[in-house]
Amino acid sequence: MRQQITVLGATGSIGVSTLDVISQHTDKYSVFALTGNQKIDLLATQCIKHSARYAVVIDPQSAVILRSKLKSADAETEVLCGVEALSEVSDHADVDIVMVAIVGAAGLLPTLSAANAGKKILLANKEALVMAGGLFMEAVKASGALLLPVDSEHNAIFQCLPPTSRGLSGSGVLRLLLSASGGPFRGLTTEQMVDVTVEQAVAHPNWSMGHKISVDSATLMNKGLELIEACWLFDATPDQVDVIVHPQSIVHSLVQYADGSVIAQLGNPDMRTPIAHALAWPDRIGSGVAELDLFDIARLDFTKPDLENFPCLTLASEAARTGMDAPAVLNASNEIAVQAFLDRRIGFTQIADVVKETLSRSIFKEPESLAAVQESDSRARHYAASFILEIER
Ligand code: NDP
Ligand code: MG
Repeated sequence: MRQQITVLGATGSIGVSTLDVISQHTDKYSVFALTGNQKIDLLATQCIKHSARYAVVIDPQSAVILRSKLKSADAETEVLCGVEALSEVSDHADVDIVMVAIVGAAGLLPTLSAANAGKKILLANKEALVMAGGLFMEAVKASGALLLPVDSEHNAIFQCLPPTSRGLSGSGVLRLLLSASGGPFRGLTTEQMVDVTVEQAVAHPNWSMGHKISVDSATLMNKGLELIEACWLFDATPDQVDVIVHPQSIVHSLVQYADGSVIAQLGNPDMRTPIAHALAWPDRIGSGVAELDLFDIARLDFTKPDLENFPCLTLASEAARTGMDAPAVLNASNEIAVQAFLDRRIGFTQIADVVKETLSRSIFKEPESLAAVQESDSRARHYAASFILEIER
């Protein structure tokens, strides 16, 4: 029996890579549903190629266009519309696997639905865990869902931990070493980054990714979000996670053990490796990624992160230590600031200013419910947006 998979965010960078891996293993996987937002042409092509049973888009106008494209191709895909439909194709009884590759807070509700329904979840989206890690991990535990990290660093750590352990306690692990490439502006000072352009910020040296995560990689906020993500996934404290800058992006992360051993996972920087690993786990399947040639790479460098010129990493690790809804506030204000930078309303270094200001104005509290998380999220978005208006004046 082929496993049925829903790909949330099929039209994005991770979504496209996921479908590439699936198309190499059509004997094992079939597509249940694909979702997109703005790239309707691509979504239509994907639905036709993979014979998707359902397609989901958010706005009704897009649904009309998609239906007509599918109809003219005689495709049998049924088009659903709206945020609730994202959850419907995530917790549907016929679905075995849900790949969460929607960017940002929009990924939260369908991810929670998949968790509550006990699905096998391949988690690329990190914002959902950062916002609501406690609620999410509780849902996974209660339903017996299988949560497999796709983010390359977390997938690497998962591979380096003992197979029987789902956390650090009692496993002889001292610390997790989270790799960071340093992004396109590694080595620059704050002054040198004041006038960098959107085009420079999204041009990551090693990885090809969506715009939001590319900007996060350039500010090092991505590593900050990943630190919080690692704490939830592996039941670690922020003190048990060290960030190491490794510009070649070959060692995807490492685990340091009490006996002096350090276990690392290596590979070419291509997301199809962690995607294939999570899809087939505990088996291994081909991914289409070129074999790693160590002679070609020749050297691997490791340095400490530059916290002075990249304040977002410190803001995130402070939010991780504060706990409560501080990570949700961090994430929401960062999403607003990154969008304002992409819209050329604020400068690159002002992203950190917006996040810092929003955090400093917030009174943190424990988010007891999904509604409380959503309230913290929208309050932080509102504050960040008004601070950006002030900057623009
Ligand atoms: P992209 O921007 O390339 O893709 C995002 C996807 O989400 C697209 O399918 C997009 O649709 C859809 N989408 C955007 N906004 C909404 C919304 N409001 N509602 C529903 N769907 C929406 O992002 P990436 O693929 O790069 O990243 C996806 C997630 O994976 C992020 O959370 C990122 O942090 C994480 N990740 C990505 C990595 C990478 O290498 N790219 C590595 C590790 C983690 P459309 O394009 O049709 O508008
Ligand atoms: Mg990553």
